[in-house]
Amino acid sequence: MEKQQNIKQKLPDKFSNFSEWYQQLILRSGLADYSSVSGCIVYRPLAYAIWEKIMQEVDKRFKQLGIKNCYFPLFIPEKLFEKEAEHIAGFKPEVAWVTHAGDTKLAERLAVRPTSEAIMYASYSKWIRSWRDLPLKLNQWNNVVRWEFKHPVPFLRGREFLWNEGHNAYATEKEAMEDLWKILNIYKDVCENILALYGIVGKKTELEKFAGAVSSYAIEFLLPNGKAAQGPDAHFDGENFAKAYDICFLDQQQQKRYVQQITYAISTRMIGVMVAIHSDNHGLVLPPKVAPTKIVIIPIFDKQTKQNVLDYAKQVKSELVKLLSNSDSDAIIIDDREQYTPGYKFNEYELKGVPVRIEIGMRDIEQESVTVFRRDTLERFTIKLSQLSKIKELLDEIQKNLFEKAKQFLLSNVVTVNNIDELKQAIANKKMAKANFCCTKECEQNIAEQLEAITPRVIALDEKPNENDKCIFCGKKAQAVVYFARSY
Ligand SMILES: [Zn+2]
Repeated sequence: MEKQQNIKQKLPDKFSNFSEWYQQLILRSGLADYSSVSGCIVYRPLAYAIWEKIMQEVDKRFKQLGIKNCYFPLFIPEKLFEKEAEHIAGFKPEVAWVTHAGDTKLAERLAVRPTSEAIMYASYSKWIRSWRDLPLKLNQWNNVVRWEFKHPVPFLRGREFLWNEGHNAYATEKEAMEDLWKILNIYKDVCENILALYGIVGKKTELEKFAGAVSSYAIEFLLPNGKAAQGPDAHFDGENFAKAYDICFLDQQQQKRYVQQITYAISTRMIGVMVAIHSDNHGLVLPPKVAPTKIVIIPIFDKQTKQNVLDYAKQVKSELVKLLSNSDSDAIIIDDREQYTPGYKFNEYELKGVPVRIEIGMRDIEQESVTVFRRDTLERFTIKLSQLSKIKELLDEIQKNLFEKAKQFLLSNVVTVNNIDELKQAIANKKMAKANFCCTKECEQNIAEQLEAITPRVIALDEKPNENDKCIFCGKKAQAVVYFARSY
């Protein structure tokens, strides 16, 4: 009984109380739970199934680019970790260290990986000898630990998260950059066409780029609370790590040269971004391509009608399985549990974000139809059994609708600002602000000190300032158009 009330209890309002709405949604939909370790969450089956889908989609695209999966140790010896100065400076404050084995103190501390450059590049240095060994394109699907002290938020900010970390080495910068753009496009494709999310692809500013990189690129998303969340990213490292870890090769002229490197990642943060953008006050809204269960069939019966209704439900299911040619056993389910009422089940699947619900009662059977409910718009209608193929179109339509809504949301919340006051006002109104910026490190440092949580998110790639445009902060010549926001 207690559980039934919990399902029916309303969520806080998404737009007026985002933070409480998000936290309760994560817990009550069964995506995740808190654990005994502060800042570390439990990924329950629903969240893990979504992550598996992201992994599959990214992984198959990576393989077409010749990227191979591998696995390196979780631990990094301190000496190795300290080789690249900027890298260690960027990560050291958040590293968790292993210092003991049982009661015995280790001769050398081991870092729990916050990222794997240090351990991987020690091997790259051994493996890469000649131009024939290049390119080397390796990826790991793993977990990393960053012992942050900022307020943890499930998926969006935590001490341990899951991701891919790709590390490629090339003979030339040209090849490295060509692949970097292909990889960013893979991430963009998965975000847009699988997760139904629209973000801004741009270049990171000096202070926001990856520790040790020459340049960083990322896809930035805007959440309904006005905060930006950095999605997948890719970094061009040039020779920075190659010099620190001695990764060199003999080129075709027998000249010794350093490799050119890129790294790239997509993490479980995307689950949080997706949930925050699509979901509503009834619960999760999952795009069909990512939802482990795409259709739930709920038979409505009493003792007399039970057999009839269940038979009909099974027939509908088997036709849908054929139509969708989906072999995944969870994709289409019949919920015939008798200990829960249909109303309870409706609420439950709305909370869990199942894209399409099909209700089947005696009236549907008599009319040779089914009652359909779509989760994204909350619309309910009937379709004839002979037109069941419309369900396939409906799933495509839901996928498309969610993407269009997400795109509209972002585009309608970007404001161009001409001075600092307008910038502050835009951010206070939960917008992302676009401004002319000089892109100097000094100016960026000043912003960080004066505007606290407002940071440059990305430099626009498709827009340049005019000849006479000035930086809105220092008045010097503007070098780029930059997106600003508060961020996670
Ligand atoms: Zn400036």
